[in-house]
Amino acid sequence: MKTSFQIGKIIGIPIKIDISLLLILALFTYVFATDNLVIYGFVLGFGGLAISLPWQLVLGAFLSVLFFICVLLHELGHSYVTQRYGYKINGITLFIFGGVSQIEEMPREPRMELTIAVVGPLVSLLLGGIFYVLYLLFASLGSSLVPQIGFVISGTLAFYNVILGFFNLIPAFPIDGGRVLRAAIARTTDYGRATRIAANIGKVFAIAMAVFGFFYNFWLILIAVFVYVGASQEAQATEIQIALEDLKVKDLMTQHVEFVSPDLTLHQFTDFIHTHKHTSYPVLEHETLVGIITVMDLHTVQKNNQESTFIRDVMHKEVLTTSPDESANNAFKKMIRHTNERMIVMDHDKVLGILSWSDLLHAIQMKQTRKNI
Ligand SMILES: [Zn+2]
Repeated sequence: MKTSFQIGKIIGIPIKIDISLLLILALFTYVFATDNLVIYGFVLGFGGLAISLPWQLVLGAFLSVLFFICVLLHELGHSYVTQRYGYKINGITLFIFGGVSQIEEMPREPRMELTIAVVGPLVSLLLGGIFYVLYLLFASLGSSLVPQIGFVISGTLAFYNVILGFFNLIPAFPIDGGRVLRAAIARTTDYGRATRIAANIGKVFAIAMAVFGFFYNFWLILIAVFVYVGASQEAQATEIQIALEDLKVKDLMTQHVEFVSPDLTLHQFTDFIHTHKHTSYPVLEHETLVGIITVMDLHTVQKNNQESTFIRDVMHKEVLTTSPDESANNAFKKMIRHTNERMIVMDHDKVLGILSWSDLLHAIQMKQTRKNI
């Protein structure tokens, strides 16, 4: 299910909002509108102002949106530097736990990763500083209503941006601080090992965070789960990336593919499969690739209708193609992006083979068993 939608583009990067953000915006709106909490002199809400509840809610909503713009600026900090290093950003998504930049491939160069990771928290701390100056300015303007509102807005944003900046510097991979840690470890050991160590430290932090959260703040438990799962996933993704390194599509593809015609009935196709034993077949019409059909597609049509159904009726017309010299890592990413398990390997107009998800998994397994022996 698609849960996020694009709201615009900044410096060429699609900005997306996940529907879970709306939930947190509503919660923040309510908290900012009604809270009257004072921490270190910062008034963190409009609850104490002499205004009606509807106005408190309007201001609360405004402040929540401003806060998420700050989160977006934090992410844009990461994305801007990543782009400057020549890497591609697929988008920034704002969701219930804040923001995340979809970086197609993280640079392996430790110094680059360090700069990319550290710039986000720096943006947050810088924003905190700017809002702090505004906060002092509003504080000096007296106690009439408008300066009071400015005082609450700037104070709350100063407070939460500083929290955001420092929180992200905790060395719990995949939080920014954890990436800084991985970059530091990667200077002395290989990238895969550095990732494993950083991910394990991240998991320890996540457990500690959950225990702490159990006593003090329920929210921390949710963030801990997010960190724990994130650490595991990133470590796995890195293992895969390393396993497929130096491999090309032509090293992994299945050659000697058999073609079928779109005019074959599914009944004829069943007979065909029995003699050929592949799981997927490119569909060719007048020498041109028009689709792909797999053994699984047979099950979508009932047995007694297979005489009257043709391959062209059930084949997948959207075919993912690749070239034999494309890197296995790129092919892997393409399959994930398109949620497609197969690619047809083409050399110009000629079909050379098929690369399937299981070919890739097989290669990864081979690499890992070899490493463990
Ligand atoms: Zn960040």
